[in-house]
Amino acid sequence: MNRTLLEQQRQTLDEAITGVFTDATAEDHHDPGELTLSGLGGCTRKAALQLAGHTPTDDDSHREQRASHLGRATHDWFLPRLAARLGRELTMIEHDVILPVRGLHIRGRLDLATLAVGAGLLLDLKTYGYDQADPGQPPSRARLMQVWGYTMGLRAQGYSIETVAILPMSRIHGGTDGLWLAEFGPQEEAIVDARIRDLIHHAKAPFFAPRDGHRGPGLDMECDSCPFRSQCWPGAQPAQAAQVRTDADVVNHAVRYAEAAAQEGAWKEEKTYHATALHRTRPGPYEADGYEVEIKTTGGGKRLNQSQAKALLAENGLPVPMTTDRESRRAVVKRRPLA
Ligand code: SF4
Repeated sequence: MNRTLLEQQRQTLDEAITGVFTDATAEDHHDPGELTLSGLGGCTRKAALQLAGHTPTDDDSHREQRASHLGRATHDWFLPRLAARLGRELTMIEHDVILPVRGLHIRGRLDLATLAVGAGLLLDLKTYGYDQADPGQPPSRARLMQVWGYTMGLRAQGYSIETVAILPMSRIHGGTDGLWLAEFGPQEEAIVDARIRDLIHHAKAPFFAPRDGHRGPGLDMECDSCPFRSQCWPGAQPAQAAQVRTDADVVNHAVRYAEAAAQEGAWKEEKTYHATALHRTRPGPYEADGYEVEIKTTGGGKRLNQSQAKALLAENGLPVPMTTDRESRRAVVKRRPLA
């Protein structure tokens, strides 16, 4: 087969693969202007804009959104099997709920609820890749509000749920180490109610609502997919333009970059030291000084041996495949001598 034909085949395949994802985005299209239970605990400004009925300006219906579709495929494959294993009296998968609260009706779709007398369980599956935060961390406000909102919606339909669970699952290796479980009761209901009360308040002047620390398109994943991003960060093209307008902005970010880089180095060293100290510790629970610690075994998986792979390619007269790094910036900071 000649090289031109191979190139044509590659291009055809690349286009078809991209098409699979863009078609899925189009099929999955929902109204970006609607506040749903999945957005209840996310960016306050975004939720306030949705609640105020603001018209979205940024259309993502053409995007590939590969990670999201792969996450959905995992849901479709995994949840029915999990439900079958649990074998409860009644199970709902991908079930629509509506949370009626303070005159609003907020829609959502829960992942899995299994109902048994006194043991109703609602579970939310969250798949993640290399790009997301440590799944072992306590659930964020966004995740808690979502799962609590579903629970209240299901209760409004007359079903009883006593326990909620968030199950992070790695899209890389299927790990589920961060499973989180908690009881659901009046305290959680009150927190959701207070959040809705705040959002109703912010919806009166949504562009004054807090951005909750989000850093703008290009710098923050939630902003990157936000349907209001160009109104919230006017003129942010390219993304960094919103952050850096003057020389003082450049210096500010460069100094903070250098400080963060220095701390990162020190913390990495500290982490390596303690990890080495724990290296041969027996896995299991430990307790002292008011702390409970679980030592777990990680690693042991296979990964590419780069030097052997390079040597093999060289032995067979094949070039080492190379890719070009994305251009980035590094700040070198010096203090100006005092005059
Ligand atoms: S662009 Fe970012 S900060 Fe602004 S509303 Fe959207 S998510 Fe919030």
